[in-house]
Amino acid sequence: MQNRIVHLIDADPSETRINVEGWIRTKRDSKNFCFFEINDGSCLKNLQVILDKSTSELSEVITHISTGASVTFTGILVESPGKNQKVELQAEDVILHGEAPADTYPLQKKRHSLEFLREIAHLRPRTNTISAVARVRNSLSFAIHSYFQEKEFIYVHTPIVSASDAEGAGEMFQVTTLPLDDIPKDNGVVDYSKDFFGKPANLTVSGQLEAEIYAMALKNVYTFGPTFRAENSNTARHLAEFWMIEPEMAFCTLEGDMAVAEEFLKYIFNYVLNHCEADMAFFNKWVQKGVADGLKEVVDKPFIHLPYTDAIKELTSTKKEFEFPVSWGADLQSEHEKFLTEEVFKAPVIVTDYPKEIKAFYMKLNDDEKTVRAMDVLVPRLGEIIGGSEREYRYDVLTRRLDELGLDPKDYWWYLDLRKYGSVPHAGFGLGFDRVVQYVTGMQNIRDVIPFPRTVHNAEF
Ligand code: ATP
Ligand code: MN
Repeated sequence: MQNRIVHLIDADPSETRINVEGWIRTKRDSKNFCFFEINDGSCLKNLQVILDKSTSELSEVITHISTGASVTFTGILVESPGKNQKVELQAEDVILHGEAPADTYPLQKKRHSLEFLREIAHLRPRTNTISAVARVRNSLSFAIHSYFQEKEFIYVHTPIVSASDAEGAGEMFQVTTLPLDDIPKDNGVVDYSKDFFGKPANLTVSGQLEAEIYAMALKNVYTFGPTFRAENSNTARHLAEFWMIEPEMAFCTLEGDMAVAEEFLKYIFNYVLNHCEADMAFFNKWVQKGVADGLKEVVDKPFIHLPYTDAIKELTSTKKEFEFPVSWGADLQSEHEKFLTEEVFKAPVIVTDYPKEIKAFYMKLNDDEKTVRAMDVLVPRLGEIIGGSEREYRYDVLTRRLDELGLDPKDYWWYLDLRKYGSVPHAGFGLGFDRVVQYVTGMQNIRDVIPFPRTVHNAEF
């Protein structure tokens, strides 16, 4: 493990003979020497390898080594005369494990478009951009667990298959073992009693309601798992399979929820800035100018708290023209969110107390009976990054809300039970993991921040 290239590039020259394993990025031949750049995915930088052809019996094998080949070099680290690296490997021996014939290997040295790389998702992690994304994604995921574990939240695995009717968010993938060419019917309607679960089932669109169950026993919990939506939209921000993080806290109101959301975002951004310095410098320079600087600003600035009604005042008192009209009761569009964060406050903004009509049934009703205790965290460049709320924990108010919305309380029996037995103020929020990776790296398309994207008409690999 200590021979990973990320450590070797900063190591001191040494007489100790070491093995270095990886894939060839480039090869350059001169009369007596052969120069290689080798990468093992541990960092952006390659290790330079120099091999003396004149004295070695390796000239035959060297002719078979080209970009993409897998090799093990043996040699010692010497000071590099070049100014691009501190040390290089002076190799004495090489084992060629697998060739990568240059006439067919798709990843030659030139730059490839991200669209093209999506078609070769089995090879794209060998590129600078996609391997940097993979490392940042890994670090973010670790940071998320670290934050919640340090705060003593319990990680709860909520189900992926759900037969509960409570979600109702539409856009669900149905799960069935019924034969699609011969569906059993009873008077023309599908007979689900013959299906695997004996009733309709679908892939989860959110683990929140189940997370609430565990919060009502373990106090502070979080989920971090796959989520599915049959989004029939071809946007750069929607996947059919994505990962979501949903903390839920008992004995907690909206104020506590906002405090955790702010601390959490700062923690994970800071973690990536500190642990993925080289990768973040790469994104900052090549992918989205200033993306790392923007993250530092989010980490350093206190978040602004702004009730929805005041946000509407800001948006209607400006001369700026918006594509989507603004009025009290309308949802904020991303142009409005960007205006608030980038032009009015120049900082992240938490908008609270949205009209109940544009938010979910489970959010706590304010005394004005018009707004709910919702909060959306908006950040510059993106808009909404987190959506959360204090939950309605009063049995009578919740049943009244279900009634107003024409939802059947029978479908929510266990959710209502939580309000009947030992109910307590509680709150939580959700954020889409892939959207966060996108925000942190500045990658334009969400399909390039998840290893194997699933979207409409695409589930390759
Ligand atoms: P959007 O308006 O962008 O479609 P949403 O309102 O449907 O989002 P929520 O239901 O609030 O989203 O889901 C919680 C979080 O999950 C969102 O804030 C977002 O980060 C993420 N998310 C939602 N849909 C997708 C998707 N199809 N692909 C990736 N992430 C998603
Ligand atoms: Mn959506």
